[in-house]
Amino acid sequence: MALLVLKFGGTSVADIDRIRHAARHVKREVDAGHKVAVIVSAMAGTTDQLVSWTKEVSTTPDRSEYDAIVSTGEQITAGLLALVLQGLGVGARSWVGWQIPIATNTAHGSARITSVDTTALNEFFKTGSAAIVAGFQGIADNDRVTTLGRGGSDTSAVAIAAALKARRCDIYTDVDGVYTTDPRIVSKAQKLTRISYEEMLEMASLGAKVLQTRSVELAMVHGVRLQVRSSFDDPEADQGDGITQRPGTLVCDEEEIVEQQVVSGIAYSKDEAKVTLTRVADKPGIAAAIFGPLAHSDINVDMIVQNVSDDGRFTDVTFTVPMSDLERALGVLESCKTEITYEKLSGTSDVVKISVIGIGMRSHAGVAAKMFQVLAEKGINILAITTSEIKVSILIDAAYAELAIRTLHTAYDLDEV
Ligand code: ADP
Ligand code: ASP
Ligand code: MG
Repeated sequence: MALLVLKFGGTSVADIDRIRHAARHVKREVDAGHKVAVIVSAMAGTTDQLVSWTKEVSTTPDRSEYDAIVSTGEQITAGLLALVLQGLGVGARSWVGWQIPIATNTAHGSARITSVDTTALNEFFKTGSAAIVAGFQGIADNDRVTTLGRGGSDTSAVAIAAALKARRCDIYTDVDGVYTTDPRIVSKAQKLTRISYEEMLEMASLGAKVLQTRSVELAMVHGVRLQVRSSFDDPEADQGDGITQRPGTLVCDEEEIVEQQVVSGIAYSKDEAKVTLTRVADKPGIAAAIFGPLAHSDINVDMIVQNVSDDGRFTDVTFTVPMSDLERALGVLESCKTEITYEKLSGTSDVVKISVIGIGMRSHAGVAAKMFQVLAEKGINILAITTSEIKVSILIDAAYAELAIRTLHTAYDLDEV
């Protein structure tokens, strides 16, 4: 008998039929004698609807009321799943974040979990029933409800798994594992049997939304064994405790991975915007004059490129910011025009960041060179580049995104044969 955490994402609980199907996965684990905590997302589309309502009534909503509203979708799913389980003869009750309680800081909209009190859950497990917990939410010190950022139910699940010292945290979703790239973009993408925490962390933070970045970070720190698997599989075909006919992807320590590829995956993000300042004076202090005010406004700058002019007096500076911050970034830079002294300021969100990721890059040279070569052969222009020990990212025009991802997928031998 083990303690298992199961998480069902939005598509996996999209309607009553899907909730009934998810309930059969839960029943299987309970019938096998396990203690089971189930973390649920809102039914697909619900959170988007709640967000759009808040925007309809306020362009700059009070952050705590925003969270009070957008957190509610998960409560509905938790209650429905508990009822369906009861109908199947499985003991179950629903919990929302504050009832556990899941404590967070006060950063509304992207709060961080600070602690999970397991007392009530552990007491409840003695009844042999399943605890159904609303994901995506917690409670701050001031007793206000918080949310953990889009996709945050993954993080709720991992935090609860860590606190309960669960044997495993199964993330049930609409794909049957983590693939070499988004299988919706590249049909030849391959399912990975295992992926290291570090690679998954890069994949998630560079755009692969199959797991929220923070959930991978938490899993890595606490050594939570994460399995990504399909909720669409036949629940009764399994034998319980994750002994599945179609295993998903295990996110684990790199030592557990036998055959390591140089490149394990390709991620992309359309959430980027490019800002360019032309004819900026090339003298000390200019970078500080540009990036200081942006930092003060909490705008994260990612890639930076600087081209020095022939006479060495002027430079063009290009950098990226999250798409949602583009207008704000342009406003900040306009207000600092006299200090920075640039000729022209422009911004576009018609760009995409593509990243190749693999811990094998630590010991293999030439990954970036190959990337530049194959993209040049397709006539794709690279606008900016950044690298780290285990990834290379490039920025290109959004129109070439799919071509670039497919080209790279083939070039690094990732296509399914
Ligand atoms: P959920 O609602 O279950 O949380 P998400 O939509 O957040 O599901 O994440 C699953 C989606 O992630 C998949 O449908 C897939 O399109 C996308 N995805 C992006 N990159 C990858 C990848 N490398 N492997 C698997 N899925 C990926
Ligand atoms: N329902 C939330 C969202 O759509 C959280 C989640 O599904 O993980 O972002
Ligand atoms: Mg998700």
